Amino acid sequence: SVSPTANIGVVGLAVMGSNLARNLASREGNTVAVFNRSYEKTETLVTEHPEAGFVPASTYEEFAAALQKPRTAIIMVKAGGPTDAVIDELMRVFEPGDIIIDGGNSLFTDTIRREKAVREAGFNFVGMGVSGGEEGALLGPSLMPGGPDEAWVTLGPILRSIAAVAEGEPCVTHVGHDGAGHFVKMVHNGIEYADMQLIAEAYDLIRRGTGKTPAEIADVFAEWNRGELESYLIEITAEVLRQNDAATGRPLVDVIVDEAGAKGTGAWTVQTALDLGVPVSGIAEATFARSLSSHREQRDVSGALPGPSDDAFTVPDADAFIEQVRLALYASKIVAYSQGFDEIRAGAAQYGWTIDLGAISRIWRGGCIIRAQFLNRIADAYAAEPELPVLLSAPYFVEALGRAQAAWRDIVQIAAGAGIPAPAFSSSLAYYDGLRAERLPAALIQGQRDFFGAHTYRRTDKPGTFHTLWSGDR
Ligand code: NAP
Repeated sequence: SVSPTANIGVVGLAVMGSNLARNLASREGNTVAVFNRSYEKTETLVTEHPEAGFVPASTYEEFAAALQKPRTAIIMVKAGGPTDAVIDELMRVFEPGDIIIDGGNSLFTDTIRREKAVREAGFNFVGMGVSGGEEGALLGPSLMPGGPDEAWVTLGPILRSIAAVAEGEPCVTHVGHDGAGHFVKMVHNGIEYADMQLIAEAYDLIRRGTGKTPAEIADVFAEWNRGELESYLIEITAEVLRQNDAATGRPLVDVIVDEAGAKGTGAWTVQTALDLGVPVSGIAEATFARSLSSHREQRDVSGALPGPSDDAFTVPDADAFIEQVRLALYASKIVAYSQGFDEIRAGAAQYGWTIDLGAISRIWRGGCIIRAQFLNRIADAYAAEPELPVLLSAPYFVEALGRAQAAWRDIVQIAAGAGIPAPAFSSSLAYYDGLRAERLPAALIQGQRDFFGAHTYRRTDKPGTFHTLWSGDR
């Protein structure tokens, strides 16, 4: 048998796994064992990248034999059943103390279940969120590992060596125990949905309000990318809008079918938030907006639904309008991130994780899809006040919202008046005003609940619970 030469292994050599394996192999001190269910993928990877010095394995036994102890293997296969199947195989050939890492997009509750089962069998299990897509996996992802402290000792240095670097810091931290890493990755994706929807709403308003072409709007986004909105998503938006279709010469964005796909992580974020009772309305609206876009059969009724007159919407001053849209986007973005961090805080409380929210904002500054300048402001906010009850109440964001709110209100009114859907802009504003309100009509809802269901209510002037004998009681 082979003497173990590899300090890390990768199982699953589709695009993510092979890029992560190459990234690992490119770092000083790493020797990477690679395994894939069908051997052709292993052969192709090893042949195409002789410089990586991979140790190929054609069976799980060979894979285990190639790894130094404690064996450390990252699984990058399809989430769900395939991940369970690979974990079972690794437990068959590994020994107690070895470390099994799931780098797929697993649901955090699956990770909690797997961590328990794998731990009880004597192994270490780490569920790890990996963000940044193919390019991130190859050049430096943002990594969100959960799992036990014991595994982090071995894994930390390896992960720090392959992660993206932002302002000198590797974009990886031990997020928390068992499912914490996948939970945080899930919320990252939810925030990504909101960010993308907000940008799309901004584009739509500018296009319909000013008549600018996609290429001209690309210039607007490129300009925005030099200010407080600077981020990967704003940057690629400019590039997408600038792209012309080779076949027709038209802007590519006008050729692409306007039905947004989704792989489900946005929906997980919203479902989990509903269970936790956290109002992530921006993320929810972004997820629903994708659903609405993809219901072609329902959208076919569009001509039958009355709206404001067609010419109702031309803005008198394009530049001033664009600045208002920018401010509305920034304010809504603050709300989306605030809601996302709220969900992480609530998840940590529910599942018993200790999560450093400032550290999360710092590891998202590089490698991942929502990387942005803005995350430095979030890090500052948590550094100044770790127990912030809600992120947007940090002084920096209060100031920014104060600067933006008048424009934000104007834009939501203009959109409603013109019949242009801006669900994420408007729900974010409603959330903000909900937090601002001294009294909410929730008091009336409590009255209604007590009326029909004797659910009782609390009073503003004395402690206790009360029930009224409503005159409508029969
Ligand atoms: P993928 O298409 O999700 O999965 C393909 C891989 O899974 C292949 O290596 C395949 O092996 C293996 N596989 C499927 N069923 C298996 C089974 N029953 N037993 C063993 N192996 C099995 O690959 P991917 O796009 O590279 O993604 C890998 C993971 O990373 C997924 O969980 C994905 O959600 C996550 N992720 C993806 C991205 C992204 O941008 N694509 C970003 C972050 C995270 P065969 O070659 O033998 O079929």
